[in-house]
Formats: sequence, structure tokens, C-alpha cells
Amino acid sequence: MAAKVGVLALQGDVREHAAALTELGAHPVDVRRPGDLGGIDALVLPGGESTTMSLLLESAELFEPVARRLAEGMPAFGTCAGMILLARDVVGGRPDQRTFGAVDITVRRNAFGRQVDSFETALEVPDLGQPPVDAVFIRAPVVERVGPEVEVLAKVGGAPVLCRQGPVLVAAFHPELSRDLRVHALFLGDL
Ligand code: GLN
Repeated sequence: MAAKVGVLALQGDVREHAAALTELGAHPVDVRRPGDLGGIDALVLPGGESTTMSLLLESAELFEPVARRLAEGMPAFGTCAGMILLARDVVGGRPDQRTFGAVDITVRRNAFGRQVDSFETALEVPDLGQPPVDAVFIRAPVVERVGPEVEVLAKVGGAPVLCRQGPVLVAAFHPELSRDLRVHALFLGDL
């Protein structure tokens, strides 16, 4: 049966993730309230604005239930703002910004491509083979610290941009905004 994959649908590029998941044969489910978490096998946290998503997670009373599912081992995939939300520590966030701490990394917000804000690059991901992945970075976080349990799957200029800790995958870039579905496929392949 197709995996039911929740997409946190409070803000950000929800539709693009849902389209990528559908194309790969998964069944995306919008997650807006606690009851939506019931039937899902995994959760995608999209790109967008992590400070806003943190506030909306609290006002929707979703923060604690999502944190509980993550603590129970639910697989999750976060891109850009979603990576920030899944990180243990954030530098340059709002003081009231909360994160799930599902991946033992420290991220600095808005630190990649400070001069240009966004860029696209051909990213070598050894696990995904050739050709390189088309990676779009938009006001992306820089991973400044990686804990011992974290696998680094790709780097740009020495900084990790694709990391995995157990069932949780995080990307500083936006695989949902390119036509290259291999990073989503990598995530679904682990379900
Ligand atoms: N800069 C955003 C943040 O801090 C992330 C940007 C993005 O998701 N494209 O949440």
C-alpha cells in the first residue's frame, strides 16, 4: 500500500512537496491539526519561514503531538525551514522559536549565500550517484555543528547540506522546487 506521508501544511511550499510525493507513488496528507497526524507513516516539513511555522505549530496545538511522534521514531524529512524545525539548536532565530531536536545539528539561519540570497548548484550526493542533484538554495541555513549520530550525505563548500539521523532526513536546499525527485525517493525508500 502507498505510504501515507503527512505534509505540515501551516505555511511554505506544501503543494510542491505533495506533488513530488504523489509523483513517486506516495499518498500525501495535509497536516493542519493534531487529528491529521493519526494515520500518517511519516511527515514532511516544507521550506518557508521557520519562525512563522514555529508560532503556527504552537497556535494549532501541533507542536507537542508532532514532537511525541518524532520521539516515537516517526520518519521525517525537512527542507530548509523544515531542516531548522528539526534541528537541535538554532543560531539567529527568534528567541521564542522552538525546534524538535530530532537531528543533532546546530544551524545558523539565513547564512548561506548572504550576498546573493539564493543560488542553484549541481550537488554531488554519493548515495544518489550521477548526475549530481540540482539543488536550489533560498536563504538557506548553514549547518555549523554535526553530532556523532548524524550522517552527512552532501556538502557545499565544506558545509553539510544533506544530513540523516536514523529515520530523519534534512536538506538545507529545496528538492521540492526542482524536477529532480531523487532526494524525496531516498526518503521514501527508507519507509
Ligand atoms: N530563512 C528561512 C527560515 O529561517 C528558511 C528559508 C527557506 O525555507 N527557503 O526559516
